[in-house]
Amino acid sequence: MSIKYYSTNGKSESVSFKDALIKGLAPDGGLYMPDSLPTFSFLDFKQMQSMNYAEIAYKVAKKVLGEEINHTDLAWITTDAYNYDVPLEMVTDDTYVLRLDRGPTASFKDFAARMMGRLMQYFLKQENRKMLILTATSGDTGSAVASAFYGLDNIEVVVLYPEKEVSERQRKQMTTLHKNITVLALDGKFDDCQALVKQAFNDRDLDVLPLSSANSINIGRLIPQSIYYFYAYSKLVKNPGTDKIIFSVPSGNFGNLMGGLLAKKMGLPVEKFVISTNDNNEVPTYFKTGKYSTIVPSRECISSAMNVGHPSNMARIISLYGGVMDEHGNISKSPDIQSLNKDMFATFVSDDDTKETIKKVWKTYGAMLEPHGAVAWKGLTDYIQANVDNNCIKVVLETAHPSKFPNEIIELIDIDPILAPALEGLDKLEEIILTNKNNYADFKDFLLSKYKK
Ligand SMILES: *Cc1c(COP(=O)(O)O)cnc(C)c1O
Repeated sequence: MSIKYYSTNGKSESVSFKDALIKGLAPDGGLYMPDSLPTFSFLDFKQMQSMNYAEIAYKVAKKVLGEEINHTDLAWITTDAYNYDVPLEMVTDDTYVLRLDRGPTASFKDFAARMMGRLMQYFLKQENRKMLILTATSGDTGSAVASAFYGLDNIEVVVLYPEKEVSERQRKQMTTLHKNITVLALDGKFDDCQALVKQAFNDRDLDVLPLSSANSINIGRLIPQSIYYFYAYSKLVKNPGTDKIIFSVPSGNFGNLMGGLLAKKMGLPVEKFVISTNDNNEVPTYFKTGKYSTIVPSRECISSAMNVGHPSNMARIISLYGGVMDEHGNISKSPDIQSLNKDMFATFVSDDDTKETIKKVWKTYGAMLEPHGAVAWKGLTDYIQANVDNNCIKVVLETAHPSKFPNEIIELIDIDPILAPALEGLDKLEEIILTNKNNYADFKDFLLSKYKK
């Protein structure tokens, strides 16, 4: 029996993994969720102890995807996607930092994007179909998607970015790739880029193009994001299957956390997920009060990838705990809040505390964190203060490389972080940038003239 994927809005048919992956969003505007999951046992965790990252990825994905994919091809996909280190840095006797920042764009988004891109390529080739991915970016997502999809067959990518709002390094990560990656600079803001992409998806004249998106709502990103939880667990605990573990997850759209919750559903012995946001604290507030209100516009914090006032994965979390939330954030059926609070400890961290944490962790332990990881570290500290008697291994997820934030780090600890190897040499590469006026007609003309066969 293979897993079916239902829509959180409950009005569309359930579909296969392949269809959920290719569609992205369900036709009723909901998000796809698995209707069941395999479980992993003591023995599986024991086997994972001696496996490398790509092997663990294969083992987990094989059980979830089952017969939907050829297993030899899946082994190629996981090996090709995960060709970089995943360090677990010991900081204290029982606290580790899981460094998810060694991929090609030095962000944890590489984990999801690289595997999702290769899965899409596999299914598209099978049906001899093509896909044109449109994505708007304020920096990190665009570079992760561009890099992950670079050179894949049957897939073209167009990235739109706001000319003046992206750092030079972020821009070069996208514009030096070429091949199937086309980058458009827009003389506008991020919201303008997003508006053009949205309008293109709603324009029936463009039905001649195989448009798709690769944003955080795709189920194809969540399954890869459950894998590093299995990895950290099996590498760190003494008695796999029995010992429990605590993860602290810096959260914005809550895709990272959703990966963890799926891993727990599959039997991973997680004592607690500490979920830490910045001042965009609508989720911690909801956990405490049962009242959910979006934050519009979202608040500007230094952990900028987490400046989200209405997380797209909230509907999935609510669904996992028996409730229903639509895409606007209206809850028509309340989830089991007690269970939510049992599995998770939600807290939020100010910019001042984030900075203080970067300084303190460096001074006390010699471990370098950047703003996103620091939010997670501080959240864990809050949890431990309230639960002194826990004796689990604790893992803080570091989601970006400190060298992506050189100015902040220098200001706080007076050290220029060593450039992530993945980001070296960008200056020597040729950039190709097309420009586009902030105008839909121009954008549409560009798409039709370049991609219409
Ligand atoms: C995207 C991102 C996050 C937030 O992850 P979610 O899955 O959206 O919660 C945290 N840190 C960094 C560096 C990111 O790029």
